[in-house]
Amino acid sequence: VRLRNVTAQPLLCTRRTRLKKVGQKVMVGDQVRVELPPSLLLQSQGKATEVPMVAEGDLGAIAKVYPRRTVLERPPVANAEQICLVFALTDPPLEEWQLSRFLVQAEATGLEISLCLNKQDLVEETEVKFWGDRLTNWGYTPIILSVQNCWGVEKLQAKLKHRISLMAGPSGVGKSSLINLLVPGVEQQVKKVSGKLRKGRHTTRHVELFDLPAGGLLADTPGFNQPDLAVEPAQLIHLFPEARQQLTGRECFFKDCLHRGEPDCAVGQDWERYDHYLAFLEEVLAQQNPE
Ligand code: GDP
Ligand code: ZN
Repeated sequence: VRLRNVTAQPLLCTRRTRLKKVGQKVMVGDQVRVELPPSLLLQSQGKATEVPMVAEGDLGAIAKVYPRRTVLERPPVANAEQICLVFALTDPPLEEWQLSRFLVQAEATGLEISLCLNKQDLVEETEVKFWGDRLTNWGYTPIILSVQNCWGVEKLQAKLKHRISLMAGPSGVGKSSLINLLVPGVEQQVKKVSGKLRKGRHTTRHVELFDLPAGGLLADTPGFNQPDLAVEPAQLIHLFPEARQQLTGRECFFKDCLHRGEPDCAVGQDWERYDHYLAFLEEVLAQQNPE
């Protein structure tokens, strides 16, 4: 637990027996009430300006978990509001199918999506415009970055303020570089926590939140991109903003329409990602009825 208002340092906490009895789990991202160990209590009752120092061996207790605004299972995080998807314009090449798949998976969480395209320094302006226009048709406004040159980063920083965000994307696109830029002293933050929780690091289910200087928390989420699209077939269409827009205020003739040319379907077929939709639909249908 990182204690705000009391000390900037992390404090190792146990769960009160009362919480254990009712099966109340604590997740990364949870807002909790912490009962401080006596050593810290004494210090904080001293001069108001004094910031108590957490010492080795100090142990707090989580006495209450406040209601969660959102819950993600993979990765396990509470109260996240945004997914920051990072891709590179090149190196590795920007693959439309991979991008679309990440977008659909991000949409399935219900969280807000901020899409970043990195490595602007490696491509021509026409390439940037090509992807900008294309993604606008898909329903997204990408933030164009060159992490290496610190271009465009303030736009992303503004979006990360005052909330919990997750970062995801394929490897090699610059996520680690971006975290190093956004979270000064990230190495120290990792060390402090990992010293106490050694077993947790380096597993794909482990999530760690980093403090951003302007406020807000950011997690690098290794386990985000799952091999399966965990979506109900009828829900899939709603994960495409450009199709969602066609369905606002309109309905298909069949209640269980899958938008594959059924009569009086409200979803047209002349949108760029219609092929993606059909392919992903086949996939989720096959998962439902494995042969
Ligand atoms: P990750 O796998 O997504 O965490 O990607 P890394 O942060 O490890 O970056 C992969 C490679 O891309 C490294 O060699 C970085 O130096 C490089 N890189 C990151 N951002 C940029 C950028 O904006 N421009 C260029 N040219 N290279 C970058
Ligand atoms: Zn339809």
